[in-house]
Amino acid sequence: MTTNTVTVEGVEVSTDHWIDGRRVSSAERFADMSPVDGSHLADVASGGRAEADAAVDAARRAFPAWAALGPEGRLPILKRFAEGLRARVGELSAVETMDNGSLLMANVHRVVPRAAQNIEFFADWAMTLDGHTIDSPEVVNHVKYDPAGVAALITPWNAPLMLTTWKVGPALAAGNTVVVKPPEWAPLTCSLMADIAHAAGVPAGVLNVVQGIGETAGDALVNNPDLNRISFTGSTDTARLIGQAAARSITAMSAELGGKSPFIVCADTDLDAAAQTVAGQYNNAGQVCLAGTRILVEDSIAAPFLEKVREASQRMTLGDPRDKATRVGPLITREHFDRVAGFVDRARTDGATPLWGGSRADVGALYFQPTMFGDVASDMEIAQKEVFGPVLIWQTFSSDDEVIAIANNTRYGLAGTLFCGDEARAMRIASRVVAGTLWVNCFFVRDLAAPFGGSRQSGIGREGGSWSFDFYADIKNISVRKGGFKTPTGA
Ligand code: NAD
Repeated sequence: MTTNTVTVEGVEVSTDHWIDGRRVSSAERFADMSPVDGSHLADVASGGRAEADAAVDAARRAFPAWAALGPEGRLPILKRFAEGLRARVGELSAVETMDNGSLLMANVHRVVPRAAQNIEFFADWAMTLDGHTIDSPEVVNHVKYDPAGVAALITPWNAPLMLTTWKVGPALAAGNTVVVKPPEWAPLTCSLMADIAHAAGVPAGVLNVVQGIGETAGDALVNNPDLNRISFTGSTDTARLIGQAAARSITAMSAELGGKSPFIVCADTDLDAAAQTVAGQYNNAGQVCLAGTRILVEDSIAAPFLEKVREASQRMTLGDPRDKATRVGPLITREHFDRVAGFVDRARTDGATPLWGGSRADVGALYFQPTMFGDVASDMEIAQKEVFGPVLIWQTFSSDDEVIAIANNTRYGLAGTLFCGDEARAMRIASRVVAGTLWVNCFFVRDLAAPFGGSRQSGIGREGGSWSFDFYADIKNISVRKGGFKTPTGA
């Protein structure tokens, strides 16, 4: 059935779309390059309006039967889908690492297993949705989670499989059918995902994958008037464009966007643990939406803490992301590298000083040194805009009011991290920082049942646990008059 394939790290991957249960090619193709070694991985089908429309039509046709299965009918299929992902953790991880430069060990142990959990967790949760009632004096309100229809799911390159399954899981579990538009800088694991779903018995048309460039394939997809949901993870600027399309057709949209998150360190905390965690922000070369990139340190410990962070940062080994010892891999593309370097150059011009790093690392073309800027004023570009690279800034504070004011002084509100030894103070600060997620004395812990999303320009809505179903389902109230039936139920 497959028409065009490539072999990456010994794994055969289709480079075509997956529409209505079969591989579909396009005359136009785009080059997919590996950031690891600059090799040409694939020429991938570049979709446009025809492919996007065909995928939405297929999803529309498949919707009634998939919806009619109910959560219990979908459960075994989605469990097999999760098992299929789990069975191929090694292959998916190897392909993801070559495609986007993320650390192989992290993919094997955390990221790809999480993709399987995304499918399984929401399939289980969907079993618990219906049955909730609200008793009123005259009526009983039966709350029902109906499938909404066709969902367009658009994701970025920094963790494509994990971020896509985070949407595919609840969307399919709720009874919707989906069209996925993978990121053009790392499109391959979503193609494998389609094969795994198919092998698990996900019917034709229920899960479709349209490959292509954001401005063409993505734009055509979100402008299709026959969508019921658009779920987007990516940059704030792209969300603005997608929001305009969603507004035209009044399609509900969720958006998980960029951040410039604060990382607050109070004097009484475990400074070694905090320093280690600050250095961890360089993981994945800083290409992590949730990274705490503004390090805000209490005055009294600033000097010794800086030395601890410097030492911990020196231990963040740069290199090939397939090596176990590597902590910092490459940036994704030359274009992105130039963007990161541009931020660093302008920060210098604005008067900020690199405390370490600040230029390309002598490891490969796309490697940038872990960088920390001092002498930063909060209105500088480097303190306001998301770099999405291994670039942190260092600022100090002398009171809780001051650190909260600095922390909240951006257009973003995705996440925050706080290291603090005093629980009451920690909760006071945490409750005043504007963020969708605030970690206290930890970082990057994400329970699938917990709400996740961004405030301000970091996002619209929340996903995770019941919040995912609040978005992916059409929630209906069947309000039944008490005593209104001639034959009461069960009589
Ligand atoms: P991006 O916005 O450039 O692209 C994201 C996706 O949108 C890609 O699949 C792209 O092809 C598509 N796209 C681009 N233009 C489009 C258009 N006009 N219409 C429809 N689709 C279009 O983002 P990126 O560079 O791939 O990813 C980095 C950004 O993603 C960062 O800002 C990062 O913070 C954010 N991000 C957020 C989260 C989160 O959960 N909040 C997670 C990961 C990444």
